[in-house]
Amino acid sequence: MTQLRNIPSVERVLSSDTLAWVVKAYSRDWILSLVRQELDRARSSVMMGADAPSVEEVARATRQVVEKMNRPAPQPVINATGVVIHTNLGRAPLSRAATEAAINAAQGYSNLEFDLDNGRRGSRQAHLQNLLQEVTGAEAGLVVNNNASAVLLGLSALAADKEVVVSRGEAVEIGGGFRVPDVLSQSGAILVDVGTTNRTYVRDYETAITPETGAFLKAHASNFRVEGFTASVEPAELVDLGARTGIPVLHDVGSGALLPTENYGLAHEPTPQESVAAGVGLTFFSGDKLLGGPQAGIVVGSRDLVNRLERHPLARAFRIDKMSLASLIATLMHYLRGEAEREIPIWRMISAPVQLLEERAETWKKAVVDRGLSGANVDSSRSAIGGGSLPGETLPTRVLSLDCGSLPGGPEGLMQRMRTVDPPIIGRIEDDRVLLDPRTVLPDQEAHFLKGLLAALG
Ligand SMILES: *Cc1c(COP(=O)(O)O)cnc(C)c1O
Repeated sequence: MTQLRNIPSVERVLSSDTLAWVVKAYSRDWILSLVRQELDRARSSVMMGADAPSVEEVARATRQVVEKMNRPAPQPVINATGVVIHTNLGRAPLSRAATEAAINAAQGYSNLEFDLDNGRRGSRQAHLQNLLQEVTGAEAGLVVNNNASAVLLGLSALAADKEVVVSRGEAVEIGGGFRVPDVLSQSGAILVDVGTTNRTYVRDYETAITPETGAFLKAHASNFRVEGFTASVEPAELVDLGARTGIPVLHDVGSGALLPTENYGLAHEPTPQESVAAGVGLTFFSGDKLLGGPQAGIVVGSRDLVNRLERHPLARAFRIDKMSLASLIATLMHYLRGEAEREIPIWRMISAPVQLLEERAETWKKAVVDRGLSGANVDSSRSAIGGGSLPGETLPTRVLSLDCGSLPGGPEGLMQRMRTVDPPIIGRIEDDRVLLDPRTVLPDQEAHFLKGLLAALG
């Protein structure tokens, strides 16, 4: 009981030096309630036999709660995994211009839905029409909040209560809850799967046609590869069949690669331009995968089909917000100006020469060695593209490879300590070593990266 009497009073905690700036910066009522919660906790511990905490201990615990809540969320991190489009780390980082466009759109009023020529109401989609036409070659386009909703909107508007013919090899799960059969049934369309998992021919689609057929759907198997005895139908072949039978072809290409990935030593990723050129009715893709922009879902195709999507109620439910719209436009402008590889972070990462990566890894190694730490090497490794695009495709890289044998907790221990520095550093473990890949560490994060790494190494 004497210990209970030793628990500090609310007033003494509130007036402690430790809480001085906190009390000034925040509402006194809020800090008061936090202190009370801490003291309640202390009382329960004392009842269980613990000693009463000091004023300083309660004040510090309170300040920690405030500091934790005061951190921006999501918190910036340094991606040293070498996975360029890391879904858990926010997919594509934006270019400077795309970032500024989002800030400008956020900070003030804009002509988002206002026609400056005639002073009347305009459409937020209007800002993108010419740009999408130029970049993809399509007649018309529509942008929504992500590709999953773009596909759901397309199927809902064109094929509700109708049959949609899909190859068995393409009735896939893309990850994160996007399953082609589920999206189809959610839209009210009826899945008719044809062919086999590994081989599908045009005649399979043709024999599946009934008076109820609403569309042919092709979906890019973004996150896995079927190898060996395989056959699939090219978009152009389906377009021919569709033209003869009056059935539109829908193509979900997924990652939105507007640059030819094969030029970068990667497998060919289907591009929206190819589908448009093949005459596909509607092509769907993401804004924040290989396009390298903000989260968005883009649909391009014939004017007539895009109009039908625009008029559907889900178009309003899925509409893109002004900040993403602005930053998507700024990102697409990089392609139009032919500067995508230089300005868009993911393309700068993908096109980074191994020589440059090696130099950066050597700089990192030197910083570690200069600290008198051993077990640091520069090794050859592979960076992944990730984000459900280009499965299994990697790029040669050089990594800082750390032997953690003499460090507390081994490689897991180091990974954990790297997550506690500011900003947290995320690496990967391979063969009991921690690997840090310069490819995905943004140049302006380099100084923070080295400081954090050295602190984590101790
Ligand atoms: C990634 C992907 C989607 C989902 O796109 P989000 O923009 O993440 O909603 C849909 N289809 C394919 C083929 C994909 O690769």
